[in-house]
Amino acid sequence: MGIGEVYSEMKKEIPKDVTLVCVSKTREINEIKEAYAAGARDFGENKVQELMDKYDNVGPGVRWHFIGHLQRNKVKYLVGKVHLIHSLDSIRLLKEIEKQYAAQDEIASLLIQVNIGNEDSKTGVAVDEVNALIKACEECQYIRIKGLMATIPIGDSQHCSKYFAEMKSIFDNLKKNKYKNVSMEFLSLGMSGDFEIALAEGANMIRLGARIFGKRDYK
Ligand SMILES: *Cc1c(COP(=O)(O)O)cnc(C)c1O
Repeated sequence: MGIGEVYSEMKKEIPKDVTLVCVSKTREINEIKEAYAAGARDFGENKVQELMDKYDNVGPGVRWHFIGHLQRNKVKYLVGKVHLIHSLDSIRLLKEIEKQYAAQDEIASLLIQVNIGNEDSKTGVAVDEVNALIKACEECQYIRIKGLMATIPIGDSQHCSKYFAEMKSIFDNLKKNKYKNVSMEFLSLGMSGDFEIALAEGANMIRLGARIFGKRDYK
């Protein structure tokens, strides 16, 4: 099956209200265009330079998602270009996003990345830091928080379920409250290896790379 067919099959498999982000990092433009031709519009990149290089080359109507760790000195390049940044992971980054988006009078849509497994190797805020970050967002003018994102520790399906369920419960609790600049719309969980479990636990945005494009080659 080609990339377009795989994408179409996947769209049939997942519920209509779930956003499928095709993770196109390391992929050539012609591969991305195959998914685009089959109807894909949401693409995820984890490096600013790579996103810039691809930005104008896929087709009209693409919604770029930034899913990697975002360095503060690169924020300026994303202003007005990305649909959603999945990786807000500190107040310092928030302040830089507010500053750069203010300078161009644009609104930034963000997900808070939560380090749900407390892994040293991963970015994201700890669960007990989420509230402080939300409070800081309430002070901003150019920031809209749209939900939460996480990548979970490697483990068996029971472990995956547990972490996804924890994220869903944090999401639901935040949703009950009314915060300025915050609406809990998207719960971005699940990658190629675990997206079925993420969907079962209530994710409504999944990020698939290998499952759509085949195995990545980092050469
Ligand atoms: C690479 C990446 C994905 C996609 O991973 P696959 O296993 O290829 O589906 C999803 N989310 C993030 C944050 C990534 O960096």
